[in-house]
Amino acid sequence: MLTTDPARSFPQSLTVQRREMATTTGPDSAEAPVLVGATRLHGIGVGRGGVVGPVAQVRPVPQVAADAAVLIDGVPAGPDEVRGAVGAAFGEVADRLRRESERAPGVLGGVLAATAEMAADPALRAKVLSRMDDGDGAVGAITIVVAEFAAMFEQAGGYLAERVTDLRSVRDRVIAEVVGLPAPGVPHLTEPSVVVALDLAPADTAALDLSMVLAIVTEQGGPTGHTAIIARQLGLPCVVQTAGATELADGVVVAVDASAGIVTVEPGDELRREFDQRRRLEQSFASDVAPGASSDGAPVGLLANIGTAADAARLTDTAVEGVGLFRTEVLFLDRVTAPTVEEQSAVYAKVLRSLAGRKVVVRTLDAGADKPLAFAHQSDEPNPALGVRGYRLVRTMAELLDTQLEALARAERETGIKAWVMAPMIATPAEARDFATAARAKGLTMVGVMVEIPAAALRATEILAEVDFVSLGTNDLAQYTMATDRTLGELGDLLDPWQPAVLDLVALTAQAGRDLGKPVGVCGESASDPLLALVLAGFGATTLSMSASAVPAVRFSLRRHTMHQLQAIAAAARAAGNAPDARAAALALVEAEVRMALQL
Ligand code: PEP
Ligand code: MG
Repeated sequence: MLTTDPARSFPQSLTVQRREMATTTGPDSAEAPVLVGATRLHGIGVGRGGVVGPVAQVRPVPQVAADAAVLIDGVPAGPDEVRGAVGAAFGEVADRLRRESERAPGVLGGVLAATAEMAADPALRAKVLSRMDDGDGAVGAITIVVAEFAAMFEQAGGYLAERVTDLRSVRDRVIAEVVGLPAPGVPHLTEPSVVVALDLAPADTAALDLSMVLAIVTEQGGPTGHTAIIARQLGLPCVVQTAGATELADGVVVAVDASAGIVTVEPGDELRREFDQRRRLEQSFASDVAPGASSDGAPVGLLANIGTAADAARLTDTAVEGVGLFRTEVLFLDRVTAPTVEEQSAVYAKVLRSLAGRKVVVRTLDAGADKPLAFAHQSDEPNPALGVRGYRLVRTMAELLDTQLEALARAERETGIKAWVMAPMIATPAEARDFATAARAKGLTMVGVMVEIPAAALRATEILAEVDFVSLGTNDLAQYTMATDRTLGELGDLLDPWQPAVLDLVALTAQAGRDLGKPVGVCGESASDPLLALVLAGFGATTLSMSASAVPAVRFSLRRHTMHQLQAIAAAARAAGNAPDARAAALALVEAEVRMALQL
């Protein structure tokens, strides 16, 4: 049974010219136009840094009609010419992938080599040509045959199922080649570059050679979406929602200012000097390695958010006090089948060993909505963000949670190191109790839940009565409090964690923690803002977890205020009537030295 109907997959109206695209503009165009007349692009900044470097565009997947005519020199090609073009396209794609695989490091090189083999597979090519002989257009035939192979791979499961993404990337590359569009996907970077995209899919991010990425700029995506989270995690300056970014030509030099959310095209010497100065200042914060605390010694633990064992390894020599959020779903974003106990326990053991002696909070899989996992997909949900996601998967796929808790308990036994474990998307005290019961039954002892649904914040006391700690996920808390999709950058003003209603829920939760003497952390992106961090600490958050690169500025900011000042800053923000006023009220009470150093 075919899973893809090409007639529905692609718009029908597009006519395609081989080697000359007349009908498509913007990022699809073979020669993306140089942006003319605008030197500053505005977006939403993510993180703090600033860098200068050349643009490398990530090309989107070609949107081509299934029955599009292939034109050569403006004239529809005859059947033999089209057959020849398709055969040559498979060969060219295979060759190009082989060349890329030779240049790419480690695992990526292996993946590209395996993908090249698929493109070179005579069976795949023969089936496409045979469908064309039966009357299908080139694009339709490629799409249908790849869908058939993908269905077979998925049915076979295991290694083959894992290769479906690569197979689809062969399809997209071959179609692009046949119709004369630039190859889609992440470019091979030969120099440190600013990666620019409409938005980055999780798989795109995985394919990036991070040693060559200076910054990420996207035209879509929100400040708490996938791209932004990954950029923060990697400490990369990032600007999302940057109108016009995909019109920048490859190689044009831009200055990316993540603090201001501005991308300057061809920056002058003065701006370059300012960026250098800022980098030196940020480096000077990094020399302070004391634990997080107010100036009068009230501790506020400073932790890192991680998504992989490699992230954990990178923390070994840093001054973070542990991990406040290990997003385990990041490990399995490209998996088609659920990971086994053995696979998972090996990763968790690695993470625990990398951080021995420090706290590690492992979050169970938060699959669904903005974090789709193929093996936990819930079909036909009109509102995935409000559907069976996060902890709720226990209703339909209880074995996922059971396997994960077993894997974590096994990693604890193997390493002799204790982890903290928490569940995402908890709505009720009953869910918190059920999760705690399941985790403790496996022998896990520090059990908590995330507070990221308003219902949980409103009932924080009852929830905390069931568990040992909670952690506020302000990304989702803002999304659900303000009924604003966190992936929609256009609604960034509503999604702002400075919204007084969101601050109210944070304050309520922190108060519940103080009343019961239990830890209340914050692990949403708000903790990485050195101004908002003061407010969160003032409410009584016991730990703040963020990308490791954000820790030095937050540490500096906290250390310049007494706990009494932090409480006054928090109260002033909460008393404001709207988000900009809340920020302004907090800023007015911040020490001048911090304002100046951090350009707040
Ligand atoms: C959050 O929602 O704030 C959070 C930390 O979790 P995630 O961003 O992974 O949903
Ligand atoms: Mg969340």
